[in-house]
Amino acid sequence: MNVARLLVSACLAGIPCRYDGKSQPIQAIVDAVRRGEMIPICPEVEGGLSTPRIPCERRGNRVINRVGEDKTEAFMKGAQRAWERYQQEGCCATLLQSRSPSCGVTHRYDGTFQNRLIVGQGITAELLQQQGVPLFEDTQWEAAMEYGAAKIKEGGDSL
Ligand code: SF4
Repeated sequence: MNVARLLVSACLAGIPCRYDGKSQPIQAIVDAVRRGEMIPICPEVEGGLSTPRIPCERRGNRVINRVGEDKTEAFMKGAQRAWERYQQEGCCATLLQSRSPSCGVTHRYDGTFQNRLIVGQGITAELLQQQGVPLFEDTQWEAAMEYGAAKIKEGGDSL
């Protein structure tokens, strides 16, 4: 298929993998996944966490759930799996759910479970950025698709 693929947060593609067992679909993303232009992944599920699960927040470089358990290892494993999948699928960018302790691109909750947002990234977004991966968040889905289309025109990243 002649597409420059995007790795996408699975919950945006309608997969019910959020901590509360729900999804947060955007129809254009659901359709793009069906066409094989976006590859869905949930880093928290990939890291071995169950769905539904106790919500987690990032606190510095650790990730803690609401009852105080340290889930950092699962989040690190999920981030690594996302990076591996990105490479295996020949993706050109990622499109990630905002505010997540895994996927958040610009903001995340501060680790106090008081619904307080701060500037910062989730564990997966941070690892991908360190690898030089272009990051878009859910509100930028149209720009992400335009980026993928532009990559086709460039030819370098098409599959
Ligand atoms: Fe969605 Fe990412 Fe959270 Fe999984 S880890 S539910 S893909 S925001």
